[in-house]
Amino acid sequence: MFDDLIMPPADKILSLMPIFRQDSRSNKIDLGVGVYRDASGTTPIPRAVREAEKRILTAQTTKAYVGPAGDPVFCDLIGRLVFGEAAPWERIRGIQTPGGAGALTVLAGLISLARAGAAVHVPDPTWVNHVSILEDNGLRVVTYPYLDRRTGEVDFDALLDHFSRSERGDIVLLHGCCHNPTGADPSRSQWQALAKIIAERGLVPLVDIAYQGFGEGLEDDAFVVRLLAGMVPEMLVSSSCSKNFGIYRERTGAAFILAANADRADATKAQLTVRARIVYSMPPDHGAAIVRTVLEDPALAADWRAELDAMRSNILSLRQGLAASFRRFTNGSDYDFLARNKGMFSLIGLTPGEAVMLREHHAIYIVEDGRINIAGLQASQIDTFAEAVLAVRGKR
Ligand code: PMP
Repeated sequence: MFDDLIMPPADKILSLMPIFRQDSRSNKIDLGVGVYRDASGTTPIPRAVREAEKRILTAQTTKAYVGPAGDPVFCDLIGRLVFGEAAPWERIRGIQTPGGAGALTVLAGLISLARAGAAVHVPDPTWVNHVSILEDNGLRVVTYPYLDRRTGEVDFDALLDHFSRSERGDIVLLHGCCHNPTGADPSRSQWQALAKIIAERGLVPLVDIAYQGFGEGLEDDAFVVRLLAGMVPEMLVSSSCSKNFGIYRERTGAAFILAANADRADATKAQLTVRARIVYSMPPDHGAAIVRTVLEDPALAADWRAELDAMRSNILSLRQGLAASFRRFTNGSDYDFLARNKGMFSLIGLTPGEAVMLREHHAIYIVEDGRINIAGLQASQIDTFAEAVLAVRGKR
């Protein structure tokens, strides 16, 4: 049976992990995998998460199933974090999922069920797994222009033009904040113009928000979700707690739908729950229990918010430091976009060959498409990294 199976192409991000581990050079730098790192290079467990785990360990009396839709209290807490207090709650429903990837999977299955073979427009570039998950669910992936590679900013005119020519009923995938891999997010006024076109043309937004709190703050990062929720009859939202709660391996997220009315919302949620039942039956409990414990306790929630703010400030200061370093070395502003980009990622503008040179000659690991995880840098490594990038580009 397995004779015809060939090796799949290596995952461009995950394949770096073992190579990095085996690299014995003491000056090696990992800007590949998308996890936050603090100044000591570790991916911290937030204090509030640790405390919540202690409480769960002593209070939990059973490991019996929670149910395919997960914990409704967790869903409500994340719903409020994402949609805000002013959302049209009677039309919103959510289920707990194994991470953002789990949410995207059940949402893709739902789209496919509602409209088999529907077109889903995704930004070029986007997180590679978006395409895999959508196609695996029988959906037709269409790309829309997103990045102006000369400026490192959103190519807004091209984006607007694409949306204004999309077919009514098509689905448009948007990164809610901190676009992966470019770090380029539309401004508020650009989001407003895009939301207007989406509403006017009857497009259905699928918003993936995986880095809430890493861009401009928990509330500001939810701007486009909240904006669209007040403008469109239907939308889908995938939310991940992996990064902002630092619980990557606990697989914690939620899938939400906004429907035209409460009856539609109930039926749609029931179908979403059937998707979950088929794909993984029940979501894991531990991460969602942590998030619930943190968010239900005002002191823990405040501490978590403070730690999240500190993570964001750290990324911002690394971004500013890196842009300043390039300015010094180049006497120019070509890399200033790094300071303006949001979240952990930016495209540094290297070819795959240059990315390999960076690894082989400088022990610096970045994804082949030129994506760097800024949070993987330590302040003391900023100049080394900037000089190495310029060296492989023949600029130094
Ligand atoms: N969406 C985007 C844009 C992501 O970058 C990621 C994680 N890399 C996810 C979703 C999935 O996150 P999770 O680990 O929660 O499944």
